[in-house]
Amino acid sequence: MNEEIPQLPNYDESSIDAAFATLADEVRGETASRADVEAFRLRWLGRKQGRLKLISDAWLKSAPAEARKPLGMRFNQLKQQIEAALEKAAAAPVRPAAKAGIDISLPGSVRAPGIEHPLLKTMNDIVAVFHGLGYSTALGPQVESDFYNFEALNFPPNHPARDTQDTLVLAGQQEKPSRDRLLMRTHTSPVQIRTMIAEAPPIRIVVPGNVYRNEAEDATHLARFQQVEGLCVDTNITFSDLKGTLDHAMKSLFGSAVKTRFFPSFFPFTEPSADMQISCIFCAGAGCRKCKHSGWIELLGCGMVDPAVFASVDEVRLAQSKPAAYDPAKVTGFAFGMGVERIAMILHGVASAGTFYSNDMRFLEQFA
Ligand SMILES: [Zn+2]
Repeated sequence: MNEEIPQLPNYDESSIDAAFATLADEVRGETASRADVEAFRLRWLGRKQGRLKLISDAWLKSAPAEARKPLGMRFNQLKQQIEAALEKAAAAPVRPAAKAGIDISLPGSVRAPGIEHPLLKTMNDIVAVFHGLGYSTALGPQVESDFYNFEALNFPPNHPARDTQDTLVLAGQQEKPSRDRLLMRTHTSPVQIRTMIAEAPPIRIVVPGNVYRNEAEDATHLARFQQVEGLCVDTNITFSDLKGTLDHAMKSLFGSAVKTRFFPSFFPFTEPSADMQISCIFCAGAGCRKCKHSGWIELLGCGMVDPAVFASVDEVRLAQSKPAAYDPAKVTGFAFGMGVERIAMILHGVASAGTFYSNDMRFLEQFA
């Protein structure tokens, strides 16, 4: 409020005109700059220290008598101009204070999209390949009986093949007959049995789901993991159909340049059985650390359905008053099973299966 009071050198008309034009410009300039309305009012119309009062006091004090009336009129006009500007400001919508600028160093407001977990996505991708071949999805319980998980799949009680699948069994089952004891399913294969008991051939199913083993966990072994199993049963199904189907599926999942090859293996529920390998997708078969310099990666187990499995199915079907439908002389089939974690590890170059279960957002966000 201690601003300089402009001087009025002469009281002739042109000097007065020039002085008031300067003051009017000053008022216009301040209202145009959107200064705080209340500060503007105090600055010009304040009762004791207002600029209008100070200037009029100064100019009128030394004004000759004949100049007082025109000066007074001019001060009234200036006051009206100021009040009009204040009214206009009061009527204007309230604006937020003008921002000083945009701080580009502030983090943006990003909305994270929900995505499929990489394991779920891999499982869905596998299932989709087989849906494209006319397979349907079949599901089954994760708590299974010994019969469906082992006996019907040609793992007799006390057979050493059971040792290959360290099993988590439910407590308090000792009173039950061996085949009725409950356990956490060690593979998705019991759903093959359940489906064949319920339906006559032809059958084409894929079975995705959790399985459980009593594993000491490491980079490639988990106590809970996920499988996708497949089963095709019809007349005239041969090993060539198995090879062609899996070769097509691997090319769909890993790219058309991928090759497959089959090695003899053993599973109780298939005969003959095979391990299928794919050409290494990291080195295209040339040999690298990931394929242990062999150019090939072991991926899944498969084989032709063992006639003993068909016999178990028909035994239950007959017991349930259903017609036998799986005479090995008439129907044949193949089955395969793959670990979802293993395929996801290869697809994404992940070194440890446990990483998928760590719930570490830094890892999972890479798949968004
Ligand atoms: Zn390689």
